Amino acid sequence: MVMKFGGTSVSDAERIKRAARRIVAKREAGHGVVAVLSARGKTTDELIAMAEEVSATPDPREMDMLLSTGERISCALCAMAINDLGHRAISLTGSQAGIVTDESHTKARIIDVRAERIEAALQEDHIVLVAGFQGMSEARDVTTLGRGGSDTTAVAVAAALKARECEIYTDVDGVFSADPRLVADARLLPQVSFEEMLEMAASGAGVLQLRSVEYARNHGVRIHCRSSFTDKPGTVVVGEADTMEQPLITAVTHSTSEARLTLAGVPDEPGAAARIFAALAEANVNVDMIVQNEPTSAGGLAEISFTVPREDFSVASKALEGLRGEAYTELVAHAEMGKVSIVGAGMRSHPGVAAKVFATLAAEEINIDMISTSPIKISCVIPREGVERAVSALHAAFELSGPGTVGVEQPFSPRGAA
Ligand code: ADP
Ligand code: ASP
Ligand code: MG
Repeated sequence: MVMKFGGTSVSDAERIKRAARRIVAKREAGHGVVAVLSARGKTTDELIAMAEEVSATPDPREMDMLLSTGERISCALCAMAINDLGHRAISLTGSQAGIVTDESHTKARIIDVRAERIEAALQEDHIVLVAGFQGMSEARDVTTLGRGGSDTTAVAVAAALKARECEIYTDVDGVFSADPRLVADARLLPQVSFEEMLEMAASGAGVLQLRSVEYARNHGVRIHCRSSFTDKPGTVVVGEADTMEQPLITAVTHSTSEARLTLAGVPDEPGAAARIFAALAEANVNVDMIVQNEPTSAGGLAEISFTVPREDFSVASKALEGLRGEAYTELVAHAEMGKVSIVGAGMRSHPGVAAKVFATLAAEEINIDMISTSPIKISCVIPREGVERAVSALHAAFELSGPGTVGVEQPFSPRGAA
């Protein structure tokens, strides 16, 4: 069994001991156990802030050296707690655990898991703790996997060991029809298909990192997302064929960390867009939505708008700087955008869903900036300050509420609030 504990689940000594007890209980039930841990509480945010105190543009390689320490602390402490419970535990860094990644610092991808060391430790009857969110490149540099990356470590380890299940223990009861911190009556989803979970993770449901869901689908890993504070059953991510119901809409997701860039004066000729997006790809920027407005007259100039995660905003602007004059004339940026999406496999065969989304946002007087769709998702870029209202309104309009579901164990203060 692979068990992953998120930052809130190991935020203080009591919680580390609680995780240790849960891990030991699993071992005592007869399973070989590998536990993947995240950095405690807000450690990763604090490490990023520390880097920004000493440098405006921290070197990515050194950033990874710094960020990878958070997860090591959790693992060493948890190993100590497990040893005190009379079991033998050993903690491993990502590189010791054989997590091999590419070289894109701060958002590396796992390319291989060489799990011999984990397997040997399991053979010796150890409980193995693996530091999440990190690996090592072929050049032997420490890398990290992007925010939320411990989920992907856990899934990759589960795949390499052919584990029965990858349990993701977190601070809510599972995957909900909307972020339970925003929508108090969000419904817990006992099952969600890979297809829907991929769209949800891609559109902001941070409960599972997108890469972890991709990895699980590609390698046939069963993900079970559940609370680290209760024994409730949580959510299982299953193949499309195994979903029991296919409601029209499954969830409303959101993000408040989008940035929009608009390039004006783009020549209306073949290759213009290719030049722009090649530069962004080269800089390893993930572009989300793209809209191009054709010139109204022959020989005129086009306009291209696209969104990127806000954390990539300055890298993206810098990457485009060199193309000014040649590929476009003017860059206009809006760094404070949000996005709201609805996801549901049932919308594929149901007309009218988009109309209902737009009418719902109109009734809230929320202006839509950009729209994109997939067969099972509709996303709208909107001003950041409208996101919370948009999520509640869409959740209500599509009647997604659960019967008195309480998603959060205790009243939490919203993310980022004091
Ligand atoms: P961890 O530290 O355990 O990895 P995260 O903060 O990364 O936890 O992910 C859990 C959080 O994801 C929840 O506290 C919740 O606010 C947020 N979240 C966003 N969308 C959803 C959703 N649809 N279902 C459940 N949680 C969600
Ligand atoms: N500690 C990392 C983060 O905060 C990785 C993780 O928690 O999954 O993003
Ligand atoms: Mg997470």
